[in-house]
Amino acid sequence: MIAFLNGDYRPLESVCISPLDRGFLFGDGVYEVIPSYRGVLFEADAHLERLRRSLAAVRIADPLEGAAWRAMLERLLSLNPGGDRAIYLQVTRGVAAREHAFPETAAATVFAMVNPIRSPEPELAERGVAAITLPDQRWGRCDIKAVTLLPNVLARQQAAEQGAVEAILLRNGQVTEGAASNVFVVRDGRVQTPPLNDAILPGITRRVLIDVLRDTARACVEQPIGEDQLRAADEIWLTSSTKELLPVTRLDGRAVGDGCPGPVWREALAAYQSAKPAGRSA
Ligand code: PMP
Repeated sequence: MIAFLNGDYRPLESVCISPLDRGFLFGDGVYEVIPSYRGVLFEADAHLERLRRSLAAVRIADPLEGAAWRAMLERLLSLNPGGDRAIYLQVTRGVAAREHAFPETAAATVFAMVNPIRSPEPELAERGVAAITLPDQRWGRCDIKAVTLLPNVLARQQAAEQGAVEAILLRNGQVTEGAASNVFVVRDGRVQTPPLNDAILPGITRRVLIDVLRDTARACVEQPIGEDQLRAADEIWLTSSTKELLPVTRLDGRAVGDGCPGPVWREALAAYQSAKPAGRSA
């Protein structure tokens, strides 16, 4: 697999990053995961816009100019031809002697690699997945896509140890999001997701789904979801660029609704699929 590091394209195995990189020492960096279907990037502009927003929020100067980002992503895809892919892209504050405050001179480290998208097994999507709830122990700027993911890692590990695919996080009695996904619930046919604020990542899949639902009879309401509403939901969905739209059919060991993926999820998935490049060319 060919990866990108600071202007060079080379085999991933030969990419070396200094132990003094601030991404390694402090988790001082931001990232994106951008899907592509049959070689066509999906929502690249939205991902790059979010990357710019994350960089600005942590005060890392944008290391590449507008069109150069896109050109790099396209080149990386062409060097790694094949099926559906997710480009992982990370920018850190660069290499400098270890000192918490920003270094005066350090060039940002830009790294990107390509991974196959592991689409959910059809049976998994048909049966749904299990999730657990956990207290949200993250910081106050979860809207920034920072590489500093220790609480997310610990939450996801706890979920895995309990046979679940995701941890749904609760803060002050309300759902924020999953450890690596946004959350939607359905009650009496009404679709709801928490509003954007600094407690959640503005997911691109979340936004695409809200847009496509607006064109159906299922417009989504962006309103806080209380813990009781989560537990009483007929359907719960998780969204992310690599998971797309997954139905949660067990929450903390109990069935969600009738324990099967719901009819509104099926409608929403069809609407989402039609927005993807693969849907357009199918
Ligand atoms: N929230 C968190 C914490 C995430 O890590 C992700 C996945 N990157 C998402 C939400 C979903 O975002 P997106 O739809 O842009 O992949």
